[in-house]
Amino acid sequence: MPTLDTYRPEPGNLPARDDIPARYTWDLSAICADWNSWSESYARLDAAITAFMQFRGTLAKGPEALLSAFTAMDEMGALSYRVWYFASLHYDQDQRDNEINARRQQVQILFARQQQASSWFNPELLAIPLETIRTWMAGNHALAVYRFAIESLFHEQEHVLDERGERLLSYSGRFNSVPYDSYSALTTADMKFPAITLTTGERVTLSYGQYRALLETNRRQEDRASAYRAFHQAYADSQNTYAALYNGVLQRDWFHARARGYESTLDAALHGNNIPTSVVENLIAVAKQSVEPLRRYHRLRRRVLGLDRYQLFDIFVPLVEHDARYPYDEVGSWIADSVAALGHEYQGRVREAFDGRWIDVFENAGKRSGAYSAPVYGSHPYMLLNYNETLDAVFTLAHEMGHSMHTMLSHQAQPFVYAGYTIFVAEVPSKLSEALFLDYMLERADSREQRAVLLQHAIDSIASTFYTQVMFADFELQAHRLVEQDQPVTADVLNGIYAGLLRDYYGDVIDEEQLSQVTWARIPHFFSTPYYVYQYATCFASTARLMQDLRSTDRARSREVVDRYLTLLQAGGSDYPMNLLARAGVDLSQPDTVRAVSEELAMLVGRLENELTRS
Ligand SMILES: [Zn+2]
Repeated sequence: MPTLDTYRPEPGNLPARDDIPARYTWDLSAICADWNSWSESYARLDAAITAFMQFRGTLAKGPEALLSAFTAMDEMGALSYRVWYFASLHYDQDQRDNEINARRQQVQILFARQQQASSWFNPELLAIPLETIRTWMAGNHALAVYRFAIESLFHEQEHVLDERGERLLSYSGRFNSVPYDSYSALTTADMKFPAITLTTGERVTLSYGQYRALLETNRRQEDRASAYRAFHQAYADSQNTYAALYNGVLQRDWFHARARGYESTLDAALHGNNIPTSVVENLIAVAKQSVEPLRRYHRLRRRVLGLDRYQLFDIFVPLVEHDARYPYDEVGSWIADSVAALGHEYQGRVREAFDGRWIDVFENAGKRSGAYSAPVYGSHPYMLLNYNETLDAVFTLAHEMGHSMHTMLSHQAQPFVYAGYTIFVAEVPSKLSEALFLDYMLERADSREQRAVLLQHAIDSIASTFYTQVMFADFELQAHRLVEQDQPVTADVLNGIYAGLLRDYYGDVIDEEQLSQVTWARIPHFFSTPYYVYQYATCFASTARLMQDLRSTDRARSREVVDRYLTLLQAGGSDYPMNLLARAGVDLSQPDTVRAVSEELAMLVGRLENELTRS
């Protein structure tokens, strides 16, 4: 029987925050007891920032002096988590609250001061010979904790120029963002979104959100086709401008790579995380050889949807109509049950997240959109959701829970300096959490329809987070190589690369459409963060590899992989990501690791074929 404080969201109704029972909201008192205690922490941080200046000029004095400076920096860092998140999580509850927004901005101003007050630290440290610091660390246990932080700083230093060189480069900083700022203005502020008339007579303006929604839900191919064509035509109309802006991105990246003495733009992008370029090259090569299950999926879709011509605007419509709702009160225990394979302790933590009010569940007036997990050092992670009872919302919850458990384990096991982790490993636990949840849901689904919906969800997620992202990485690499080899970059050239990639991936299973070649122009990542998206794909491959062992019926093998996996989560950012993953048994330089994704996809497509075509 539902208790009095049960709540379920209704489409079209946006409640006030006070209308939602407290147990569905997060309890931020674990960060700071109240605003008074926040003000005290703020004042302490303020004082710590001022006090930090006293360490300036002391680092070279010896191991004790260096250690005290590191310790003071960590204390300052740990405190800044509480001060920041208490204000920013409050702000996200209701972004209309000006008073809280002002406090949040106050913290941002303090952070800028913190950055200034500690900007001397790295150069002063780097002026001490690494050999000297190594000797100090050998004789001082507490200082040796900082070994990886120190060594990686010196590793980055390899491509830092002398003072004059750095000053010159810093002047170029002001125009580094011009290509993306222009792109952003052109695609948002100045964009004329096209309008089309649907077969029903309805007039629709194709903002990005509307366009996606139409492709995902409209059952009439004619409507999808006209939306797709109108949307891409808008980019094609300015393709020479987009090509010129993208050329700006490529030239900038090549300028920086050469100025700092890297062999290529890819080398420059991977150096910080110490990732060999062969990892990206291996990823691209193996994905391209492993497209057969992806093609098989699209052949199945063409058949099931009964389409003569099957095109890129047909790849998002659901194969099965299904509008199941998943009430939040039920899914909590499902998510906890789904991680049973990871052990009692892990499962207990997941339960604690639900019972301990770590999650802000439902949408309310003024609340931030989307979903995230916030790593609040010194407290526990918090999750913001806008849970609307759809299947996507349930998987988002499983995803954010994966991030939160990673944070939880890393924060507990690591000293502050390594508590955070890089994006290169971050999406492994979130994707693994989704994969475990999928297995659990498939097992308990009791109709063919339910199974088909779950399988399509999983397959689409592999198509979009793996194959599409590798294809994007391939595009970026080919485009950057053009400027590295002094080749011209025009709209025709970029269209040619993109058209070639579509043929490589889809062969003849998707009928060609001339306009599709301009798709590169509408991918913001290409303009904002080059060489970033491949990390989604490497995380996906790592997850697929781990899942192969987790699903193993050999109990010793699956127990061993659980240990390795939990060690990865506990390791936080204590080493380079390739080393951390290698210790978890994942070697991304190996074709087999990447192939684990296509094997998983082949298995899922086989099951979906079975559900949809068996009589
Ligand atoms: Zn994520």
